[in-house]
Amino acid sequence: MEKIVSLCKRRGFIMQSSEIYGGLNGCWDFGPLGAELKRNLKDFWWRRMVRERDDVVGMDGSILMNRQVWVASGHEATFSDPMVDCRNCKSRLRADQLPEKDGKRQCAVCGSLDLTEPRAFNLMFKTYVGATEDESAITYLRPETAQAIFVQFKNILEVARKKLPFGIAQIGKAFRNEINPRNFTFRSREFEQMELEYFCRPEGGLELLEYWLKERLKFYKDIGISSELLHIHKIPPEECAHYSKGTYDIEFDFPFGIQELEGVAYRTDYDLTQHQKASGKSLEYFDEETKQRFVPHVVEPSAGVDRTVLALICAAYSEEMAPDEKGKLETRIVLKFHPRMAPIKCGIFPLLKNNEKLVRQAREIVKILRPHMMVFYDESGAIGRRYRRQDEAGTPFGVTVDFDTIGENGPTNEGTVTIRERDSMKQERVPILELKSLLLDRID
Ligand code: ATP
Repeated sequence: MEKIVSLCKRRGFIMQSSEIYGGLNGCWDFGPLGAELKRNLKDFWWRRMVRERDDVVGMDGSILMNRQVWVASGHEATFSDPMVDCRNCKSRLRADQLPEKDGKRQCAVCGSLDLTEPRAFNLMFKTYVGATEDESAITYLRPETAQAIFVQFKNILEVARKKLPFGIAQIGKAFRNEINPRNFTFRSREFEQMELEYFCRPEGGLELLEYWLKERLKFYKDIGISSELLHIHKIPPEECAHYSKGTYDIEFDFPFGIQELEGVAYRTDYDLTQHQKASGKSLEYFDEETKQRFVPHVVEPSAGVDRTVLALICAAYSEEMAPDEKGKLETRIVLKFHPRMAPIKCGIFPLLKNNEKLVRQAREIVKILRPHMMVFYDESGAIGRRYRRQDEAGTPFGVTVDFDTIGENGPTNEGTVTIRERDSMKQERVPILELKSLLLDRID
């Protein structure tokens, strides 16, 4: 994990928020490569979950909502973790994540057994709306994106003119005042979620739970996370939320252990019923064919953007021995991202930076490719070093403009470039005219 954290900082994937002021625990910033990676992940999720489907529409809700949303959903009363204080070292800890010694909870920091009794700590960030900081102005930063979907269910049903089963999807920030943020971005206080609420008839819920679990596993495969690194954990009924008739956690083999990436839960009609009761507004669905009126049930695949980004980086990280230009073996660090996720799709290199013809041709190729994909032009240093820099950034393809390209070695290869593939390091010659379509085929 240390190597991954250091690569992330060194290459500008992820860095501490407010670093020059000593940081803010549980908050992270994504640098140039991290921001691209995150965007690629969110765009692909949106494409799979919304654009490629007839039965799902998207929404983008506000982060601040009426406090009553959180009263009705149960978050104000019960969205808490059990917290203990260590009387010895004064650490605040999450009671359910502590090691035990002789049947007693032990402080994870100093090992003391002298801990207070657990008490509930609400994870929502409280804030005030407007100029007066009194009870009537209180609301919270949303701890999940799902509730905006539930409270807009009726409006969206009307405008989207969908029939059950259908879903509403959303990507957005969520905030939880976690007691112990840790494991890099895995447990943050500010993070993003990608959530789908898929509404259905009561009798369809259990089958759709299985369907969505399969769909979501397919998604991870399609972003390059191999099934060997994933685990499906079926939550035993006694541990499920009281309203859930079935929940799966999709877990990933992180360097710090197997941990949840996504929850897929059959939440019955709990959320809509709660909001219907509390708001006094009907959230029922009317079935034209059967003339039945009922509150739909819902299946929810809920994934974390930041956790998945971290999983993508962990899954991609590899170190191998490879010869440098002089044939000497050295360690090559490569991020083997699926081309779909890679922040930069193609590096473009003139063999020499002081040859005007090579540079002009390379710049021309940048111009051709740039409207279609993220490319990176690099003319500095030996070509082998430029390849290595892109290997570390996870760039799947490198295009080199050499003397053959500009016709200085005869007409045979004029107008062609070499493409180097990151993982195999194999090179092939292709005509510049075919470059765009060839790369587009390979990065999608
Ligand atoms: P955990 O048990 O790890 O706290 P959870 O079961 O409370 O997670 P959910 O409420 O199911 O999480 O949230 C759905 C998804 O949102 C999680 O699978 C995870 O990917 C993401 N998520 C939740 N909390 C955090 C966090 N503190 N930091 C980063 N991502 C988070």
